[in-house]
Amino acid sequence: MSFDRTQWVWHNGEIVPWSGAGVHLSANIVQYGSGVFEGIRCYETDKGPAIFRLEEHVDRLYSSAAKYDIAIPLPASSLKDGVCEAIRRNGFTSCYIRPVCYYGSGRPGICAERCPVNISILVWPWDPFLGDQGQKYGVRVSLSKWVKFHSSMLPTTAKACGGYLNSMLAARDARRRGYDEALLLNAEGNLAEGPTENIFIVHEDRLITNDESSSILLGITRDSVIRIAHDLGYAVEIHQLRLGDLAAASEAFLTGTAAEITPIREFEGRPIGMACPGPVTLKIQRAFLAATSGRLPQYHSWLHFVGSG
Ligand code: PMP
Repeated sequence: MSFDRTQWVWHNGEIVPWSGAGVHLSANIVQYGSGVFEGIRCYETDKGPAIFRLEEHVDRLYSSAAKYDIAIPLPASSLKDGVCEAIRRNGFTSCYIRPVCYYGSGRPGICAERCPVNISILVWPWDPFLGDQGQKYGVRVSLSKWVKFHSSMLPTTAKACGGYLNSMLAARDARRRGYDEALLLNAEGNLAEGPTENIFIVHEDRLITNDESSSILLGITRDSVIRIAHDLGYAVEIHQLRLGDLAAASEAFLTGTAAEITPIREFEGRPIGMACPGPVTLKIQRAFLAATSGRLPQYHSWLHFVGSG
């Protein structure tokens, strides 16, 4: 799965061919990573392609931009229309969606003065990020030597391009060491999150996850899992997680738009729980997949149908 099947890109309100969608080398984003973005998924349903929680993703994009004082020169409704148009023009029934708002070329320097804010929307077919096998049998996770930046250094609840160098270091380090994914501690020494995923642990019938006080991005999949878990009758606790909580967990899983719900089989070479995926993870995973593909009426309001335009 790569960009091979994408022919069209939505760029500043227009559909342009993939080959013509460039950024000038002098653009502020190229120099400093000055942009914000989203990762969204569109799923195949009986009623055609549907975007999962588009509203919340677009809200987070505007809030990420606001935290960096980036003024998006477009109302949210036009951005949502742009997402649908990009999917329709490429003819995808399911895909990953990547809107990016970034500073173009203006006055040189870190303050991005007189730099226009550009908006591009890329879409491409993308399998679960940690693999079908990973989703089915669980992944092996390492403890990153890189610490998640503290929310007093960069706003961790914003999804900003430059911040992902921290994730890149952690993810590469894990793969170099033969693991599928990394977990990062925060500056206080508690668990933060994966490079692009939140974490949940299960203790008997209780789910536990952390929140922004642990310097994490508040994932939309995380939020969906909390709602699904409540609906399935599980208690959900939200507080800081220590490494010992993970070691003692009966189950653990990662959540994210790209990774969806991926069980953790091992952490630093030690198995988590008795079986992977455990029964709670499996139930949540199944409900999540049913929700995203439109098979559970109680979650229909999470779907935004792409329609015929
Ligand atoms: N944490 C980080 C650092 C991420 O990049 C992501 C992916 N957006 C997540 C958590 C999960 O967020 P979501 O469920 O909204 O994709």
